[in-house]
Amino acid sequence: MGKGGAAVKLYEVRLVLKSPAIITRRRTERGYIRPPEYIPGSTLRGAVVTALFRAGPLGEEDLSREASQPSILASAAFPLAGGHRTLPATPFMARCKLCGHTQDLTESAARALEGGHNPEFPGFCPRCLSRGLVSPLESMHGELVYLDGDEYKTFRPRTFRATSVGISKTRGSAVREMLFEYEAIAEGSEFWARLAVADGIELPGRLEVTLGRGSSRGFGWAELSLTQVQARPAPDRGVFIALSPLLPEKAWEWGGSRVEVERAFGRTFRVQLGWDIRKGAPRPFATLVKPGAVALVSQSCEPAALRAGLPVALNGDIITGLNALVPVDEYYRLLRG
Ligand SMILES: [Zn+2]
Repeated sequence: MGKGGAAVKLYEVRLVLKSPAIITRRRTERGYIRPPEYIPGSTLRGAVVTALFRAGPLGEEDLSREASQPSILASAAFPLAGGHRTLPATPFMARCKLCGHTQDLTESAARALEGGHNPEFPGFCPRCLSRGLVSPLESMHGELVYLDGDEYKTFRPRTFRATSVGISKTRGSAVREMLFEYEAIAEGSEFWARLAVADGIELPGRLEVTLGRGSSRGFGWAELSLTQVQARPAPDRGVFIALSPLLPEKAWEWGGSRVEVERAFGRTFRVQLGWDIRKGAPRPFATLVKPGAVALVSQSCEPAALRAGLPVALNGDIITGLNALVPVDEYYRLLRG
């Protein structure tokens, strides 16, 4: 994608779950973590590619090429809260436990970083201090936030937990080892995301996809509506916010696009990067920074690919669904829009 400056289109996606979706719990070294409150970009990308193959625009050859040369990339899909886009909070947003006030120092941190200074993190609640109370603030990094007027609110999609028994196809009986617990995102939940699509692939305005596990049992049916949006040019050097997990590497490159990270802020987590279908083996573990990470970067990227996240080659695997970046002013436009 983006080779030789080929045009890449940017789409905003709205997704409505028509049935509950089981987003697979991800493996960590200590066990499983509960499903994220967003749909990973790699899951959304896989669903769109499969649906386009079923509907016709992609053929067999396109499908096998997608594994090594993705022409469709997706940011993570974050929930819509009553029509408001939610975005992952940055490490410079913090909440007061006493009065509930949210202090957001992201924009001043961005100015400091771009000027070569150290950013300031939220410390004590300014509202409580003015009333003579010293209340430490709690980091909100990675929580999903939206703006209700000028007030920050946090949001979590409605989920429920259930236990399922695997049925052996040959014996027709419940297989004890296959008893598993899952968490599902409720039907009716809405999400938004961005897709970068190589020129030459025409996306329909609407697309029905299946997400996550259990689609043969009716889980994970979703309807997508796709609107092409303008990918504005982004600054060559500046502070960006990640709309997906971020790979904490110094630089990454893909199809003529390049990102160099000077500084990055955010909490890390270690996770297994899914299952490699071609090799029939689990992918390796990687350390990632939570969505909402703030990074000072130099970039020369195709604007749409930057927003959906450049793929990364890791131990011979092509990993997608990471490194979606937006400039700080665009983050706030999305939050207010
Ligand atoms: Zn307070």
